[in-house]
Amino acid sequence: MQDFGLTEEQRLIRDSVRALAQERFAPGAARADAEFRPPVENVKVLAEHGYTGLFIPEEWGGSGLGLMENVLVAEQLARACANTAMLFSCTDGATPRALVGLGSPAQKEKYLRRIAKGELLTAWSMSEANAGSDVGNVQCRATPEGDGWVINGSKLWCTAAQVSELFLVLVRIGPEAGMKGVGAVLVERGTPGFSIGNHLDLLGLRGTGMAELVFDSCRIPGEQLFLEPGRMRQLLAVLDADRLSGNPTVCLGVAEAAFQGITQHVKERQQFGRPLADQQGLQWKLAEMAMDIEAARALLYRAAQRVDAGQASIVDTSITKAFVNQMAVRVTNEAMQLGGAYGLSTEYPYERHFRDVRGMSIGYGTVEIHKSAIAREVLAGRYPF
Ligand SMILES: Cc1cc2nc3c(=O)[nH]c(=O)nc-3n(C[C@H](O)[C@H](O)[C@H](O)COP(=O)(O)OP(=O)(O)OC[C@H]3O[C@@H](n4cnc5c(N)ncnc54)[C@H](O)[C@@H]3O)c2cc1C
Repeated sequence: MQDFGLTEEQRLIRDSVRALAQERFAPGAARADAEFRPPVENVKVLAEHGYTGLFIPEEWGGSGLGLMENVLVAEQLARACANTAMLFSCTDGATPRALVGLGSPAQKEKYLRRIAKGELLTAWSMSEANAGSDVGNVQCRATPEGDGWVINGSKLWCTAAQVSELFLVLVRIGPEAGMKGVGAVLVERGTPGFSIGNHLDLLGLRGTGMAELVFDSCRIPGEQLFLEPGRMRQLLAVLDADRLSGNPTVCLGVAEAAFQGITQHVKERQQFGRPLADQQGLQWKLAEMAMDIEAARALLYRAAQRVDAGQASIVDTSITKAFVNQMAVRVTNEAMQLGGAYGLSTEYPYERHFRDVRGMSIGYGTVEIHKSAIAREVLAGRYPF
C-alpha cells in the first residue's frame, strides 16, 4: 500500500486506531446491525483513547488536527464497524465542524468541550419529506417570539438522532422563498416541544439510530439561532470538507474490509479440487477490486490533504465522493459474488458490507447531484484540463 506522504504521527494514528478497532469494535459489528442498536459504548472507548473531536481546536479541548487524520481514523473504524465510524462523525463531523467554523463564541463555549470529550453527540438535520436534494424547499419553520424562536415542522433521515444531544437543524426563517429563506438553529434534546419521532430503518447502517425529528411549538432562546437566512452558502462551504470524512471514508473502509475478507475466502475455499483463487477469471476480479480501492484511496487522501492545505475545490469533493460511493458498491457487490451463497449469508459480513455502503450514494448529496456539480465546473471551464 502506498503511504501518500503521511507523517509519522499520521501513520501512528492509523495503525493505533486499526488495532483498537479490530480488537474492540469488530467483534460487535454484526450484532449492532442485527439489533438496530447504535454502539455508543464504542464512542466512549474512542474518547478514552483521544480519538473524539480531532478537528476541534485545542483551545476548545480538541486535538486541532486536520481532515486527513479524520479520514485515517474513520477509514480504520469502518473496516471494523461501519456504525461506529458513523458515530465517530457525531464528534468530528458536520455539526462540530459547523460550530467551529460559524458558531458564536457562546455556542462554542457551551458545546465544543463536551463534544471533544465524546460526552455530547451531535446530529445534522436538513432533509424533510419534500426537501431532499432540493434543500431550498425546507418547510420546517422558526418564527420569532419574544426574545426567542418557536419551531414547527418535522425532519427526516436524521443520522444518530436516537443518541444525539445536540441537533443542527435547517429551518425556514422569514418570508423569502427558496434557499434565501433558509437558516439554522441549534436544538438540544429534551427541549419542550421537540421529540425524536419514528426510528427509520434503511437497508444498511442500521446501528446509526436514524430517526425523524418532530417540532411542535418548540421554543428555543434567541442565542440558539445558529445562522440567519441568506448565509446558507457559508454553511454549505464549511460542510463541503465534511462530505469527505464520514460518507466516502466509511465507503472506503468497508470496501477494504470486504476485499480483505473475500480474498482470504477464495484462497481457502476449494471447488473442482483446487482453491477458487486458482481461477484466472476470479483473480482478475480481485485485481479489478484492488484497482478500484487504490484509486478511491488516492482520490480521498489527495482531497483531504488539499482541504488541510486550504486548496479544496468543489471538483475535488464531488469527484471523490461520487467515485468512492460507486467504487464501494462495485467492490462489495463483487465480494458477495465471489462468496457465492456464503456471500449472501448473514453468517458472513459481505451482505452487511454491501448494505452499509449502498445508501452512501444517496446520503450527503446523491451521486447524481455531485455529478451535476462536476459537470457545471467542467462546462464553465473551471475544471483544470
Ligand atoms: C445513509 C443516509 C444517511 C442520511 N443522513 C442524513 C442526515 O444525517 N441528515 C439529513 O438531513 N439527511 C440525511 N439523509 C438524507 C439525504 O440527505 C437525502 O436522502 C438526500 O439528500 C437525497 O434526498 P431524497 O432522498 O429526498 O431524494 P430526492 O432528492 O427525491 O432524489 C431522488 C432521485 O432523484 C435524483 N435527483 C434529484 N434531483 C435531481 C437533479 N436536480 N438532477 C439529477 N438527479 C436528481 C437523485 O439523485 C435521486 O436519485 C441521509 C440519507 C441516507 C441514505
